[in-house]
Amino acid sequence: MDDVRSVSRRSFMGGVAAAIGYLGLRPEHVFGQGRGAAPRGRLSTADYDLFAKLANNENPYGPPESVIKAMTDAMKYANRYGYPDGDIVQEIANHHKVKPENVLLGAGSGEILEVAGSAFLLGGKKVVGVDPTYASVYQHASGIKADAIRLPLLPDYTQNIPEMIKATKANYRDVGFVYLVNPNNPTGVIVPRQQVRQLLDALPEDVPVLIDEAYHHFVEHPEYETAEAYVREGRPVIIARTFSKIVGLAGMRLGYAIAPKPLIDRMRPFSVGSINALVKWGGVAALKDTAAQEKVKRLNADLRRKTVAELQALGYESIPSEANFFMLSIRRPVVPVIDEFRKRGVLVGRPFPPMLEHLRVSVGTADEMSRFMAAFKEIFAPARSTSAA
Ligand code: PLP
Repeated sequence: MDDVRSVSRRSFMGGVAAAIGYLGLRPEHVFGQGRGAAPRGRLSTADYDLFAKLANNENPYGPPESVIKAMTDAMKYANRYGYPDGDIVQEIANHHKVKPENVLLGAGSGEILEVAGSAFLLGGKKVVGVDPTYASVYQHASGIKADAIRLPLLPDYTQNIPEMIKATKANYRDVGFVYLVNPNNPTGVIVPRQQVRQLLDALPEDVPVLIDEAYHHFVEHPEYETAEAYVREGRPVIIARTFSKIVGLAGMRLGYAIAPKPLIDRMRPFSVGSINALVKWGGVAALKDTAAQEKVKRLNADLRRKTVAELQALGYESIPSEANFFMLSIRRPVVPVIDEFRKRGVLVGRPFPPMLEHLRVSVGTADEMSRFMAAFKEIFAPARSTSAA
């Protein structure tokens, strides 16, 4: 990133604008996240590096030293198939106090979401969840000719648990599973522990609930709790976790599911097993480096609070977030605003219908957040009156 720091703001802006013009970039070329993300191949490495990347809820600091070292050391296995893998499955099992038979690895938790879709939705079943949420489960469902029952968020942007229960019961025979993202993406809002319990207690025992805890590690809210205890109790719960966010390994692809054995057994045949030697060792090191995770959590919370406070001082409210992103009410259509940020070298979140006057902003480094604020002030500057006094 030295090349970024060595350029002046003016030449940076000129460079990005020129790159955008030259490459004919459209938002989808640079706003991808998860399934359906457009290829980044059209951006040169230098152009990609120049952007403040606040679009995909990534970890802006990258993996900690301990993880980089473990991955570097594992390079010696690059030419092997049957290599030692650091006992990654056992380590994950230990971490959650479950057995290895309760763990399924995925190339990112994105693979876990797809595997769950294939395991439980094939044959035209339905997934029940809210809208907006992380839509890859819904996209995968439509790809395999299954369906989704998408329930609107409540006016305070929380997930409507009673409605989820009602919709599942009303469609009981057709429901493959219930999808709960906690905290939710794109809002960053949690489902409190008593509501998770309410949901699980009310649903029929043979309807699995997939709880996506991609942003678990960032949460500070006292009413939040991981659902891992339900897996230990043998309840029909699948938890999806990822090393992409708190650990900063999005580009290396490692995630996993923990669930009771019968559910893992149904999912396993659909998993591809394409996880590489390096990231397995990286994952093992990451589980042990809790200090590094604490540091990222603290930096993220501090920068999120600071940015949200600055925006509030300018008159713009955000949805209270527990994650490494926040949703800002901009009181105007988001699509042209995304474009304006892009012109200024800042990538921000894509539109999340029906919240089309909200902007999702990932929390980047302090430098990236300053660049975001500078761009924000330009884009949202009060229009100057042109009429003569
Ligand atoms: N789940 C949620 C809620 C996400 O926001 C994301 C990515 O942004 C994922 C899952 C998939 O992440 P990955 O496949 O990198 O683990």
